[in-house]
Amino acid sequence: MKIQPIIRERLTLSVEVFPPRPDSEPETIFRTIEELGTLRPDFISVTYGAGGSTKGFTEEIADVIVNRHGIPALAHLTCVGETPESIHPIIERLQSNNVQSVLALRGDVPAGQDPDRVIRHFPYAADLIDFLRHHYPDLEIGAAAYPEGHLECDCLETDLDHLKAKVDRGVDFLISQLFFDNERLYRFMDRMEARNIQTPLLAGILPVTGRRQIERILSLSRTAFPPKFQRILDRYDRHPQALREAGIAYATDQIIDLISSGVDGIHLYTMNKPEIARKIFGDIQHIRGYLQSPTAGAEGFRQLQTE
Ligand code: FAD
Repeated sequence: MKIQPIIRERLTLSVEVFPPRPDSEPETIFRTIEELGTLRPDFISVTYGAGGSTKGFTEEIADVIVNRHGIPALAHLTCVGETPESIHPIIERLQSNNVQSVLALRGDVPAGQDPDRVIRHFPYAADLIDFLRHHYPDLEIGAAAYPEGHLECDCLETDLDHLKAKVDRGVDFLISQLFFDNERLYRFMDRMEARNIQTPLLAGILPVTGRRQIERILSLSRTAFPPKFQRILDRYDRHPQALREAGIAYATDQIIDLISSGVDGIHLYTMNKPEIARKIFGDIQHIRGYLQSPTAGAEGFRQLQTE
């Protein structure tokens, strides 16, 4: 149930889910996982509500992914609100449930909380990675990368220095922040190579399906909207269904280009909407199959022609 061997072997296709809010129906997430499970992603990652009330749920969801569906799980974990004493039992429980992979993040301080209180022990993700690598040598550790720079860092080169420091502490793979312009990812990969960062990078793709989602993206990241994407937003502003379909088509187009360019993997931010993942997986599975096994891929194309 490890992720690294799969990344070494082939282009990975993975999905991300988030725990439900405490006031929502908890069973929904398990139905979502069940539906995503039928798509056989290479792994499913589960976000962690830094300092919030949903964080305990991450472990439970990861447990179900591995033990009910037989799919590797990547449990996110943040520095925010954690101490060495709180991290140990989390990792021990994860490992005893056969969840062997963690995405080590700093997290963001929740509104209204004092940063000096909630980020005391692990100021940056690199510190958490150091701690995990030291105490749990067998644990798989992933980390975040920002093709357009992290919001708090004004200089992409400095941000890359920090990424290099993080990787050097023992990261097994990286997952990128969402982006809409593939060229920015390719330039970032060139910069990684120039710094001899050899760690596999999985490209994070968000199929945009609504206006509110876009506003949130703008408030949380430096993500640029290329003209082609901006035209979609402008054209379908008042047509939610059209925006949704165009957003999915745009993400599919992005993914095909990324696969053609030889990225290590695609990580789909599904926003707990399995029907969107199903549509995208359906559109790209033959291409992916072809890369994994030319015979399987050719069979896929034949089936497509007869459908
Ligand atoms: P870091 O790598 O620590 O970097 C944070 C900032 O500090 C950057 O600007 C960096 O340049 C700077 N920095 C790093 N080291 C130093 C140093 N030594 N000195 C000065 N500056 C430094 N958040 C959640 O709460 N839960 C989640 O589940 C979650 N999942 C995510 C998954 C992915 C793939 C991504 C891309 C992000 C996710 N986030 C999540 C958001 C993330 O927690 C925030 O973006 C957070 O602000 C940064 O986390 P990080 O791990 O990248 O931090």
